[in-house]
Amino acid sequence: MIRTGIGYDLHRLVSGRPLLLGGVHIPFDKGEDGHSDGDVLLHALTDALLGAAGLGDIGEFFPPGDPRWKDADSAQLLASAWAAIKDKGWQLENIDAVVALEKPKFLPWREAVRASIAGILGVDTDQVFVKAKTGEGCGAVGRSEAVAVWATCLLSR
Ligand code: MG
Repeated sequence: MIRTGIGYDLHRLVSGRPLLLGGVHIPFDKGEDGHSDGDVLLHALTDALLGAAGLGDIGEFFPPGDPRWKDADSAQLLASAWAAIKDKGWQLENIDAVVALEKPKFLPWREAVRASIAGILGVDTDQVFVKAKTGEGCGAVGRSEAVAVWATCLLSR
């Protein structure tokens, strides 16, 4: 049996916060606002995986109003959700994601981000791909007011 999942997330970019993508800290003068550490890529990915397994969504697993998740490490949230998914017998075929980010350039960080996500999930780096697009100067992404991510995955068992 194979199952596909999709996830989407968007966070505002604000001063005084680290820019985290896939568990990698990318140097920039702004980062994601949020209750947790704000890692928008890991959030979209967690939603894609939970959805594929039919286990709910990130907000149900980790309610944003719950003080336990204040400044939570999104890598730990993903690892926890992934453990629940694997418990149901699912294994990962692949992940693909698009990061919408005006600045900074993502390409120099891509391999580190792929390796980071693969490490969190315990899969091979070639099962994880991430690409980036700018907002072409348009909208919240284009004005560097926000970063958004779409992620898909395929699970099998
Ligand atoms: Mg989020």
